[in-house]
Amino acid sequence: MSLEKKGRLTINVYSAKERSLEELAWCAFCQDVKPLFWKDGKLFCYEMKFYPKASRLVVLDSCVATMPTYNKSVRVEGSANIPSVVLPVVKASAITEKILEQTLNLLGEEKSSKINKKRSPES
Ligand SMILES: [Zn+2]
Repeated sequence: MSLEKKGRLTINVYSAKERSLEELAWCAFCQDVKPLFWKDGKLFCYEMKFYPKASRLVVLDSCVATMPTYNKSVRVEGSANIPSVVLPVVKASAITEKILEQTLNLLGEEKSSKINKKRSPES
């Protein structure tokens, strides 16, 4: 049995945003994030890089939306020239759960340290 586990996996989440379901679906669509993950009423998408040598997982950007019940897909409404798309949703894995945990922590910190919410440039 060869388990390639050398030490623990380090997860770093650098940026987190809270979005509406619609915005999140749109974000995932634009960044080509597939599938989306769901856990405990939260739907989220993230962009990550994995560095195997350092066993480090870096999440540059993640966003969370409230989705009370699990649904295996989420629909992105198209606009003028863009057709509607259906994105798959899966239940979070152990690693994804950790990323979600950090994302929510980050959002909590932001809320308590900032009175004025910064507007995201793409919205
Ligand atoms: Zn996103």
